[in-house]
Amino acid sequence: MSSRRVVVLGAGFGGLELCTTLAEAGGEAFDVTLIDKADAFVFGFSKLDVMFGRTTPRAVRLPYRQIAKPGVHLVRETITAIDPESRRVSTDAGVHECDVLVVALGADYDMDATPGLQEGGNEFYSLAGAERLASIIPTFSGGRVVIGVCDAPFKCPPAPSECALLLHDALRARGVRDGCEISFVLPLGSPVPPSPDTSAALEEAFAERDIALIAGRRILELDPGRNVVKLDDGGDVPFDLFLGVPKHRAPDVVIESGMTENGYIPVDSATLQTRFAGVYAVGDVATAGVPKAGVFAEGAARVVAQTLIAEGRGGEPPERHLGRGTCYIEFGEGRIGSVDIDFLSGPERTGTFHAPSPALRAEKERFGSSRRARWFGIQA
Ligand SMILES: Cc1cc2nc3c(=O)[nH]c(=O)nc-3n(C[C@H](O)[C@H](O)[C@H](O)COP(=O)(O)OP(=O)(O)OC[C@H]3O[C@@H](n4cnc5c(N)ncnc54)[C@H](O)[C@@H]3O)c2cc1C
Repeated sequence: MSSRRVVVLGAGFGGLELCTTLAEAGGEAFDVTLIDKADAFVFGFSKLDVMFGRTTPRAVRLPYRQIAKPGVHLVRETITAIDPESRRVSTDAGVHECDVLVVALGADYDMDATPGLQEGGNEFYSLAGAERLASIIPTFSGGRVVIGVCDAPFKCPPAPSECALLLHDALRARGVRDGCEISFVLPLGSPVPPSPDTSAALEEAFAERDIALIAGRRILELDPGRNVVKLDDGGDVPFDLFLGVPKHRAPDVVIESGMTENGYIPVDSATLQTRFAGVYAVGDVATAGVPKAGVFAEGAARVVAQTLIAEGRGGEPPERHLGRGTCYIEFGEGRIGSVDIDFLSGPERTGTFHAPSPALRAEKERFGSSRRARWFGIQA
């Protein structure tokens, strides 16, 4: 029997987990091509580490050339067109055709969606942005800092809260915190809406540190001339330093493919199937009823991989996608808490908070090291 040709677009959390699970299934069942334009993977949380000078961009890059998985061919190409009807993908180097197509291209940042952001602000959601801020934050010695999430949905909802708390630590360590004001503008009603306990713990941490939370407000624009952030309720927030999370959207090539609705690819949240035969979408690029975070991209990828494995072996399909995952949250001063999110298994979305503890610090380290080992073969 010939191998089933699977093409996976994007070697992020979703694509890496999918290919690893298919490779583990072994045999000749799959001929997998994994396509990414980048030469290395970087964990989202590493960007905060870079931004606050805890590590370097070089140290957090995990080069794709270290991946060696049976049956998986990794190619460094830029995807230029996707035809979901024929499952044909064009890149800057050629064309890939397949029996099964999995789109795992993540979400891009739309700097132009917020006028003034490019000129007057700094984003910290890309590695380049985090690196730039690593040289700006140590020179900031007084004034108003605004951490602003321009719009929802955005990746890793707790990350901007972590940024506010880590910024407080960084300014305090340099003895300049008293001369600084920190405000945090968030389009969500609370820091982690599915978990009121997590939100309450973060809000308490903000209050203790004199960080002003402005929740439930979208940012319309930055006026770099007047150094103000304009909010959707007509309010202005003055700033001397703006640390932003840009509006997100699916990559252009995905939008141009005609697969998206309201900016992202709609999928059956139980199976991750799109409306096109043999085409799946996982992770941040999809609307699967879960938050945009690596842990959910991974969970979705496992469901798709197990579906393909079961189809190959003629076995039972896997359990449906349950939308569960644990997010670790930096509370500052080296303290790490977590929230167990469950979006799809019950009638209600839930989030169970775990207060910061040394055990959770070790668990977060294991989260990173286990993926480095599983996807890249790097033993800590
Ligand atoms: C500051 C920050 C902190 C975070 N912390 C956490 C955390 O603690 N836990 C957690 O679970 N998540 C966290 N996240 C979120 C997490 O990084 C993302 O949700 C996750 O990476 C999404 O996985 P994905 O597979 O959907 O896409 P991605 O991991 O973004 O991968 C998409 C891939 O597609 C490739 N690509 C895109 N366009 C093209 C193209 N045209 N051609 C070829 N390749 C292309 C990209 O190069 C990329 O490698 C954080 C994010 C940020 C920014």
